[in-house]
Amino acid sequence: MSYQQALIVDDDAVFLAFAEDMLLDAGCVAVETVEEGPAVIARLASGATPDLIVCDLNMPTHDGVSLIRSLAERRYAGKVLIVSGEPNSVIDAVAKLARMQGLRVIGSIKKPMTPLALMAALAGGERGSKKESAEPLTATPSLLDAAIERGALHPFFQPKVSMFDGRVTGAEALARIATSNSDFANPVPYVQLAERNSRIDDLTIAMARAVAKHTRGFLVRNKPLPVSINISPVSLKRLDFPDILKDAVELAGVPASQITLEITETRLLEYEADALDVLTRMRLKGFGLSVDDFGTGYSNIDRLRMFPFTELKIDQSFTQNALSDAFARACVETSVRLAKELGLKVVAEGVETEDMWDLLADLGVDEAQGYLIARPMPASDFAKFLARGAPSIDQYSRRA
Ligand code: C2E
Ligand code: CA
Ligand code: CA
Repeated sequence: MSYQQALIVDDDAVFLAFAEDMLLDAGCVAVETVEEGPAVIARLASGATPDLIVCDLNMPTHDGVSLIRSLAERRYAGKVLIVSGEPNSVIDAVAKLARMQGLRVIGSIKKPMTPLALMAALAGGERGSKKESAEPLTATPSLLDAAIERGALHPFFQPKVSMFDGRVTGAEALARIATSNSDFANPVPYVQLAERNSRIDDLTIAMARAVAKHTRGFLVRNKPLPVSINISPVSLKRLDFPDILKDAVELAGVPASQITLEITETRLLEYEADALDVLTRMRLKGFGLSVDDFGTGYSNIDRLRMFPFTELKIDQSFTQNALSDAFARACVETSVRLAKELGLKVVAEGVETEDMWDLLADLGVDEAQGYLIARPMPASDFAKFLARGAPSIDQYSRRA
């Protein structure tokens, strides 16, 4: 990834000269240097638009933490790279703090910075910004209606594979909305609009029907393929939802036991009493239950134990940072331990590289999902993917 304009802030003039050369060598078009945090803010205020800020943490007038707060307050939209001589635990904590405040942190490097570490961090920034489809900023109510009522909703399927032997173990269905220019829109704005307009249950049921219709044809080693769908936590307030959902998939010819429902951890605890009722009855009806985006909420083991989950999905922010960030790696380790203690299957999302695969396999993750294996694809392409048979594990692992 090359940047147009990098801005380096560090109180050490020798480091500034050295880092400037390294960034130019790494392909940055222009590099500017300043010696303290307030100078960064002054440059932004005077109209500078760096797409990368390389930030030291320990500076005499204005430390890196307060600079990061100021950048977040200004809604700085470029990327941030932290380079510091502080202990890794401090650097990682600041990186996490910056991400929590909405900054796009591409990584952190412990001084002395080497060209290799810099290149790896810059390449990581590109990875994080990858998009799989053009994402409209807004969803229109008419297209939402078309999705729910007139067949504009198309499930895409992304495989999940076993980290032990690379076999396909299931798929996640992800909603795509067909737009007028024969493109597929990302689901996030539509899910949010449906949640605001009390149409989310209808959207989920339409999705469940469409998914079940395709799932009937998916076989792996002559067995029906387990498929997951996403459920909005808003639907967990509705006590008859498990019955409606079961009817929807079974009328389309798929038993509830073949479907896993993924519920994001982030907002799970907002709906505690009703959610417990609804989730328990979903489980009794045979659905699998997966706690999605694990690590983004505040569940501890007791909270998790309350709900009858069968699977835990580690959020992709942890998967993707585990190689470079000790805190993310510790979160993966804790999640695996927690899942094993509760008897849950552990899936890592967002697996993009062989190095990530190898690290996650070492940490005891059971299944992987991500661009390394395949991007989400239309049902017809997914059927062909299944028909090609089990890919061997050396396709995913650097070691094999
Ligand atoms: P999610 O459930 O966390 O789904 C995983 C997202 O990560 C998907 O984005 C998927 O395309 C993307 N992804 C998969 N592998 C990789 C990878 O290796 N790298 C990267 N960077 N991304 C990867 P997508 O399809 O855009 O969906 C976004 C979110 O929208 C989903 O996040 C889910 O929360 C929601 N969503 C999708 N379909 C539905 C649905 O039918 N109902 C509801 N309620 N929500 C849905
Ligand atoms: Ca999901
Ligand atoms: Ca997820």
